[in-house]
Amino acid sequence: MGNTTAPRPSRPRSGPTGLLTAALTVLVLAGGAIGCSEAESTAPIAVVAQPLCPTLERTCKEVKALAWAEGITVECGPDDELFLVKSTGIPDYKMATPKLAAQDWEFLVPLSPSCATETAPRGAVSVPDGMMLNGIPFYPAIDPTTGNDLVTTAKNPDDCAGNIGPGCAYQFRSVSSCIFGKDEPLADHADADGHAALIGLGLDGFAIYAPDTLAGEPALDSCNGHYTEARGYHYHGSETAPYLMGCMVGAERGDIRFTARLTDECLKFPKAPSGSGMP
Ligand SMILES: [Zn+2]
Repeated sequence: MGNTTAPRPSRPRSGPTGLLTAALTVLVLAGGAIGCSEAESTAPIAVVAQPLCPTLERTCKEVKALAWAEGITVECGPDDELFLVKSTGIPDYKMATPKLAAQDWEFLVPLSPSCATETAPRGAVSVPDGMMLNGIPFYPAIDPTTGNDLVTTAKNPDDCAGNIGPGCAYQFRSVSSCIFGKDEPLADHADADGHAALIGLGLDGFAIYAPDTLAGEPALDSCNGHYTEARGYHYHGSETAPYLMGCMVGAERGDIRFTARLTDECLKFPKAPSGSGMP
């Protein structure tokens, strides 16, 4: 796959006022002539829903420049619509859990994600829907069928909030403090303007930042995200549910490929957390 770094024309972004307007209003197109009372009462009305937020234009160069952990590769496809992140799924810190074999995770993510017209639920708890910058996949925390919070009920999380799933793959369901290393507080990686650090990406392509929003940013919505002029739409982690994303706003979701490579050591591990699984 070739790398595409050439600049692309950007679509104009609407500002916060435009977003608010788009989110709260719909276009009502009356089929009849204005002023004709008969047409107003009988003509069908077409309601056109507007995207929840503007498209986030991004270049391959920008996504490659994110603070990926060492060993993770990022490639862009020839059509420039998706980019590919490859990871072994093994973090760069020592784990109390069994030694894992190197996996071959592949995350395909929209390069310039666009917003849907309405939010979508995250999906089954056994299917990852994003990855952190250290190449570890994350899964939904709340079981949509039972409402159970799999973070508070997890039996054996390590001190980085990680778990081993039945596929012997290391995984997160909440914010890990170890994205940049075990001795690297997330706060030390905050943006220059004080905004919390970017720690991962949802499979819809929108970024996830560490908890704590910046003064002046809008309140978080039900998906744990908000739109700002500086960063476009983005999610924030939270210490309590929904932890990473409450729902998803992206119009498209990428894809995750994974084939488990099991080790004898991992298979002997007695306690796989309940409610988690292989993709
Ligand atoms: Zn923010």
